[in-house]
Amino acid sequence: MAKRILIVDDSSTLRASVDYSLSKAGYEVIQATNGLEALDVLGSCEAKEDEIGMIITDINMPLMDGISFIKKVKETQFKFVPILVMTTESEERKKLEGKEAGASGWLVKPFKPEQLLKIVSKFVRS
Ligand SMILES: [Mg+2]
Repeated sequence: MAKRILIVDDSSTLRASVDYSLSKAGYEVIQATNGLEALDVLGSCEAKEDEIGMIITDINMPLMDGISFIKKVKETQFKFVPILVMTTESEERKKLEGKEAGASGWLVKPFKPEQLLKIVSKFVRS
């Protein structure tokens, strides 16, 4: 079974490019546009928590930002799913906040597909 990865970002361009790279590499991708929607997606997932291999989330999003989302995930059955945060150069502090909230690692935007696949293969739960 393909490893399922949840992408959370309010940019449709970013979601599309990450989806493309990961799908091409054999992952199954599901998407959400902000933290609140992502919690809904997780909650309505008929999938059990062990069927989500990884969550990759943006920080700045409407309705619920990435840091709040990570904290919420850590209160659910999905708390052991590895989480990567996507930040920009100027969000150095956000990396630490993400880490403190429970993220496993981060990716600095913009990133190349090779960088994405490398960090995903390092952290994805099999
Ligand atoms: Mg954003």
